[in-house]
Amino acid sequence: MSSFGSQPMVPSLPGRAQRYAHLRQTDPEIYQLIQRQADLECTTLKLIASENYASFSVLEANGSILTNKYCEGYPGARYYEGNEVMDRVEEIAIRRAKELFGAEHANVQPYSGSPANQAVYRALVRPGEKVMGMPVPEGGHLTHGWHVNFSGRDYVQIPYGPDPQTGLLDYDQIRHLARRHRPRMIWVGATAYPRALDYATFAQIAEEVEAYLVADIAHINGLVVAGVHPDPVPHCDVVSSTGHKLLRGPRAGFILSRIEDRYQAKYHGASKFNLAKRIDRAVFPGLQGGPHMQTIAALAVAFKEASTEAFRRYARQVQANARTLAEGLLARGFSLSGGGTDTHMLLIDLRNSPHSGRELAQALAKAGIICNFNMVPGDHRKPLVTSGVRLGTPAVTSMGMKEPEMDRIAAWIATVYQGLDRLPETVAQVRHEVTEMCLEFPPPGILEDDPPDATS
Ligand SMILES: *Cc1c(COP(=O)(O)O)cnc(C)c1O
Repeated sequence: MSSFGSQPMVPSLPGRAQRYAHLRQTDPEIYQLIQRQADLECTTLKLIASENYASFSVLEANGSILTNKYCEGYPGARYYEGNEVMDRVEEIAIRRAKELFGAEHANVQPYSGSPANQAVYRALVRPGEKVMGMPVPEGGHLTHGWHVNFSGRDYVQIPYGPDPQTGLLDYDQIRHLARRHRPRMIWVGATAYPRALDYATFAQIAEEVEAYLVADIAHINGLVVAGVHPDPVPHCDVVSSTGHKLLRGPRAGFILSRIEDRYQAKYHGASKFNLAKRIDRAVFPGLQGGPHMQTIAALAVAFKEASTEAFRRYARQVQANARTLAEGLLARGFSLSGGGTDTHMLLIDLRNSPHSGRELAQALAKAGIICNFNMVPGDHRKPLVTSGVRLGTPAVTSMGMKEPEMDRIAAWIATVYQGLDRLPETVAQVRHEVTEMCLEFPPPGILEDDPPDATS
């Protein structure tokens, strides 16, 4: 097992090697890299807002023999024989998704969040039509109409974003833009926006201009499940999501929707399929071939885990930790975009600092605090430099960290920031302290002797 020079070693538990016993023999190169990544994940603070730790059970399903089966089609209507067991797996995943989110329809086949969003476009709009969404530099996702992505090339993006002064969405401005451009579809969702989203107001706007409203809850799904973020399902035609972020599932996408299309006659009169059917057909055969059944099984496991009181407690702690981290940073003189957080995420705003987001993020990484540089609203720096650092608490909360640890993290971030001009000494000390704290909080799914209920 690799070590980090003078850093404390990660415990070498017998089960950890057993778990990869075959790989260790047949492909030591890949085996070693997995072990090195495991070491990193046990000794660094994963503050990347979109990352998390899946449980042992999710990992077991995801690494299972279900990867061997071809299941093109949907339960009861496959293009290959021998799918009676697979049909059960997918039916369970669909049922659990619908129950967890209170949705009428679920499709669990998208390979990841981006393909899920691609299917949403295919089901709802035609190339060349107008779609409202947030540009990447303002906190939106690539698939919400960014120019280098299919979504910006094949569709016309009507951009909206947070006010550069306040960092908050201005719903009057969004309404104004929607009235002026009359988009066919409106995305509500973000990769970098720390505040709660007001789906009810978005729904009023969408209804007024007869646009489809689509929520992308890839980041915040767990907060929605726990009831600590507004629920998009009652307000939206479609909701897309990922499995691997706050939800702690496998790397996957899924789509929730209504069954009937309220604009069927107006926009899809020529189609004999309702909204649910159009989503399904857009995923398969529209975009994908065989579904990844091992991933769908793991998604079903994650939905079961997320339906427990333990998970709701976890999601509330994620939010409480983000608030504590925000308060700790504000108290140490940092500015935060939007003034703070309602979610799992915060954005340090360095527009008035001589130091860029990239400088701080790279220094933090050397100190074992892994995050990413990010544009902030009103940013004057370039996309590869930026004036922001994005932080998120899902992963450290999965390690079991709470408010006292968040305050220590805020203090380390301040130390690294203040030491940016004499980096090597600063980061060495912080790196050591980070490792020591991390070793007290082994993450789920990595150290083999975790009790089976360690993640619940
Ligand atoms: C992460 C994310 C996605 C895409 O997920 P991938 O699995 O990386 O393709 C889509 N939308 C939002 C808002 C996201 O944050």
